[in-house]
Amino acid sequence: MTAAASDPKVYGWCPGALRPMMSGDGLVVRIRAPLGRLSPDQARAVADLSSRFGNGLLDVSARANLQMRGVAAEDHGALIAALTALGLVDRDAGAEARRNVLLAPFWTSGDDSHRIASALSAALVAASDLPLPGKFGFAVDAGPAPVLQEIAADIRIERGAEGGLSLRADGAEVALPVSADAAVKEALALARWFLDQGGAPEGRGRMQRLIARRGAPDSHGATVAKGAPPPLPGLTNEGQLVALEFGQIPAQSFAALAGFGPLRLTPWRMLLVEGARDIAALPGLILDATDPRLQVTACTGAPGCLQAHSATRDLARDLAPHLPPNTRLHVSGCAKGCAHPGPCALTLTATGPDHFDLIRNGPADARPALTSLSAAQLRAAPDLLTKAP
Ligand code: SF4
Repeated sequence: MTAAASDPKVYGWCPGALRPMMSGDGLVVRIRAPLGRLSPDQARAVADLSSRFGNGLLDVSARANLQMRGVAAEDHGALIAALTALGLVDRDAGAEARRNVLLAPFWTSGDDSHRIASALSAALVAASDLPLPGKFGFAVDAGPAPVLQEIAADIRIERGAEGGLSLRADGAEVALPVSADAAVKEALALARWFLDQGGAPEGRGRMQRLIARRGAPDSHGATVAKGAPPPLPGLTNEGQLVALEFGQIPAQSFAALAGFGPLRLTPWRMLLVEGARDIAALPGLILDATDPRLQVTACTGAPGCLQAHSATRDLARDLAPHLPPNTRLHVSGCAKGCAHPGPCALTLTATGPDHFDLIRNGPADARPALTSLSAAQLRAAPDLLTKAP
């Protein structure tokens, strides 16, 4: 089957700092902060760089990376030099791509999560003989209960049902019990098993697809713990969780947050501000756990993304107050569905300028229930989203 001209382009890799991606508004530069944490000085400096070289906004990605947009190609070298001086850039693009470790943000220094993520990051940087696909990633989720099970990752080190640690291939319903000391070695062995089993023909592939095809490794048989639901903005033992509208924050607000403490990036489009308890309203922040904007997801859309057929975020913001409780809406600029891969209760997928298809309980490229809705139609009658057909 050949791709239609309107099909979204699939790159098979994610932008990094050293390997940025060109978009409609300039380069997208993604910073993989070590252990997903920025000191206050690093955060203030990154905010300043975003204003100098980017569009003055910072995005937190679904894998807890920090993203700058709108960087001119001729400024990339100066930006990388500044980020390198801050300790936020790997030695080369290969190391940056391999060090794809998502750490659950509720860690304390020296606990299992912190120790394993530190050792795993170092081991992946050193593993230059491990040709993993560009999107292949690891999750370290060793707190009292797993919190990252809904977040994309190919290999998971997580708390098991019996209270010990487990290593799990994504998509598998059984795991391998591991000690904290052996977790990194076993995780790398599982990555090599993935390659040996033909998980990445032509350099592309994900663990879930391999497991669906051939099942979990024979040595895996331990019960998997049930994960906790995603957190909401509010206080945690480690500090205050603040949500970002569409995962984006003005650089000035980012710098102001750094005044409260170090910032931990999370995969829920939130920041955990270490030690903070009383952060007040700042532009771009959502502090109230009942704010309807927490029910909507929207990608960059037009004009920022070259593949977008329509703008997305204003429409998502306007529809948010009309959603039934606990119902999520995803507004996608094209069928690729970057902001919410996988099914969503309601998805509006742009198919042309100001033309949206409505998909219920499916991903952005699923068969629509209604087609060719305009933004004005949806704003005038938001119950179109939920009423039959
Ligand atoms: S889903 Fe959105 S961000 Fe992703 S390619 Fe399509 S328009 Fe661009």
